[in-house]
Amino acid sequence: MPAPHTGGCLCGAIRYTVSAPISELRACHCTNCQKASGSGGSVNAMLKSADFKLTQGRPKRYTAVADSGRTLHRFFCGECGSPLYSQRDATPENMALRAGTLDDSTGMKITGNIWTNSARPWSHIDPSTHRFPGQPDAPAR
Ligand SMILES: [Zn+2]
Ligand SMILES: [Zn+2]
Repeated sequence: MPAPHTGGCLCGAIRYTVSAPISELRACHCTNCQKASGSGGSVNAMLKSADFKLTQGRPKRYTAVADSGRTLHRFFCGECGSPLYSQRDATPENMALRAGTLDDSTGMKITGNIWTNSARPWSHIDPSTHRFPGQPDAPAR
């Protein structure tokens, strides 16, 4: 699926576009993502914030210390509660976009799994992907 991508929250109050191509996704199994999603964690497209643009609405922000020890801002729709993206306080130039909010996922696949040590026993982790027990040393991307 070539860029630009479009997406938004469940109720439609928040809409966005992504100008960069997305093919590789990263699944996060940290306990914060589990609570924030109400499921096994989050699946994300790692983006440059400059490639992301809100076209409608303004997300609410919840800030917490992540399992990595970093301060993480989580952005979500204040109307319907859909998680949308997150940004580290120290690196606002990067963001992790929740892939389930994209309108179309053609050609995308999960190529990495992080925080597998805290994965729920019922979460599927494809053994052919890159797997990290915690936070990978490499910068987000
Ligand atoms: Zn919404
Ligand atoms: Zn996480």
